[in-house]
Amino acid sequence: MSIDINEAWDELKRRVSECQKCGLCKKRNKTVFGEGPTDCRVVIVGEGPGADEDATGKPFVGKAGQLLTSILEDGGKIPRNTLYITNTVKCRPPENRNPTKEEAQACSEFLEAQLLLLHPDIVVTLGNIPTQFLLKTTQGITSLRGTWVNWRGIKLFPMFHPSYLLRNESRAPGSPKYLTWQDVKALKAEIDKLQGADTL
Ligand code: SF4
Repeated sequence: MSIDINEAWDELKRRVSECQKCGLCKKRNKTVFGEGPTDCRVVIVGEGPGADEDATGKPFVGKAGQLLTSILEDGGKIPRNTLYITNTVKCRPPENRNPTKEEAQACSEFLEAQLLLLHPDIVVTLGNIPTQFLLKTTQGITSLRGTWVNWRGIKLFPMFHPSYLLRNESRAPGSPKYLTWQDVKALKAEIDKLQGADTL
């Protein structure tokens, strides 16, 4: 990031930390802006913070976050700390419910600005909420996962949300976990391809 972009990034963080644009601000403890290197090639977008994330201000630190780390690092050989990780909404929806369309819309200026400033090659959306929101589709994650979609010139790759995988333990062929292990390998292959292109 250049100095101006760093300033814009810090300003964006400040605005999120003070935001009261939707009702999710009322019960939050901490906003969860995101975490990772700003010179990343890949941005992961989840749904919204859970209890652990709300308490720490960091994304994907609870059980789902631990599973995400395992999927990336054990399944894909992709170090988590090379990716930027954020969510569709930056404040915790009560009782871990899904964010509503209105809440996602209210928060979208922050996600849009993050993606503009980070300018990644790949955006991975986890679950229905970010996938349907960014792609403006009602198509579900089961049919979209594992497919590459052109989103504003960026490769967008939907995958199952790790919370869903925690509720579906089977690793049998065709199960969500099995498919996710295929997907993360496809993601790694695409990252390798991009890195290979850099060295040409
Ligand atoms: Fe603001 Fe987003 Fe939090 Fe709503 S979820 S209060 S729009 S930061």
